Amino acid sequence: MRRVSILGATGSIGQNTIDLIARTPDEFDVVALTGGHNIKQLASDACRLNADVAVTAHADRLDDLRDALQGSGIAVAAGSAALIEAASRPADWVMSAIVGAAGLAPGIAALEQGATLALANKESLVCAGALVLETARKSGARLLPVDSEHSAVFQALIGENIDAVERIIITASGGAFRDWPLADLKKATLAEASSHPNWAMGQRITIDSASMFNKALELIETKEYFGISPEQIETIVHPESLIHALVGFRDGALMAHVGPPDMRHAIGFALNWPERQTLPVERLDLARIGQLTFRAPDDARYPALRLARDVMRRGGLSGAVFNGAKERALDAFIDRRIGFLDMADVVQEVLTRFEAQAGLIDAAMTLETVMQTDHLARTMADTVMAQRAG
Ligand code: NDP
Repeated sequence: MRRVSILGATGSIGQNTIDLIARTPDEFDVVALTGGHNIKQLASDACRLNADVAVTAHADRLDDLRDALQGSGIAVAAGSAALIEAASRPADWVMSAIVGAAGLAPGIAALEQGATLALANKESLVCAGALVLETARKSGARLLPVDSEHSAVFQALIGENIDAVERIIITASGGAFRDWPLADLKKATLAEASSHPNWAMGQRITIDSASMFNKALELIETKEYFGISPEQIETIVHPESLIHALVGFRDGALMAHVGPPDMRHAIGFALNWPERQTLPVERLDLARIGQLTFRAPDDARYPALRLARDVMRRGGLSGAVFNGAKERALDAFIDRRIGFLDMADVVQEVLTRFEAQAGLIDAAMTLETVMQTDHLARTMADTVMAQRAG
């Protein structure tokens, strides 16, 4: 039996992970499940999978969770320290699927105890790539990518030498607004940004796909995970979302990973690695699909891509600044306080202000400095938004 924990079990990735694990329950001993506000889902999955402990991130929801699991024998806990305790419980495999920078500390705790960490939480590598990789190296833990693009690159690299890689091409669906006239983007509503043409995902990542902030995070994640230079990383709009990434080698060969837009492939690959097991995903009928199309991304439509390139070149703690400001701008867009295009302007302005304060971005990277930077970036984003509004 493999001991597994799922951080962010109630979310889109968490539920897909549970879907796979619940198909062969005898193979898994579920240690910890964590969630946020969705207490009903958390309690029901903890019972179904007979978890040792269920944890909500919100201290004020502890009583609700306790009530929901009364008499089950499942331990309950709440709050950020409890999340880290849950992630530190000995497990062989941990899914990191909390959304946002909040996923960083629990993921690091799981790596410290030596678990294989299946990393969906891309923000961990964006904010603290060097720290995450160093933690894994020290404990001997394995870090496996779950983002579909990075899983695709990982798979294309099996048996290959990274030194023979000339470029990595990350595909992008183009999101909800890829075919909108540029002039209309300013008026894009929350409902319009929250609907993805191909993938069913959580609301935040769906909006980030429309703005391409998601792709921006993925470019940075690619640099951190695979250790290649920003100039070797490209992105291309591929509306069908069937090719997830391509790896170009120095002999001119391009290896593409092709599959249906179903996160259970990348999750299942990480769950079964280094084996491949049968997965309940669609088998593509290429004759029916007929054609795959590509177009160059338009920087005017997707300013987030340019910002990502600046961050990759800048390094240091700029990824934490970028992500913290982006998360805050996204909160404001979801609360209808700023417009769709304002998000990139806010992030740009926060990056500029950080750069003007000597030493901030170049401070040594520790969990503490990353979380401080994240906090400062959010505060600065609030200030920028208040100034723009006034
Ligand atoms: P969801 O919003 O669907 O789920 C997020 C999970 O995190 C939920 O369990 C939620 O709890 C929990 N959560 C929310 N806020 C906090 C917090 N402050 N502290 C602790 N837990 C919290 O997100 P997704 O599943 O879509 O995405 C999860 C991660 O995976 C993200 O980093 C995303 O970028 C990445 N990813 C997602 C993909 C997808 O297809 N969805 C694809 C590739 C990567 P609750 O809902 O109970 O409040």
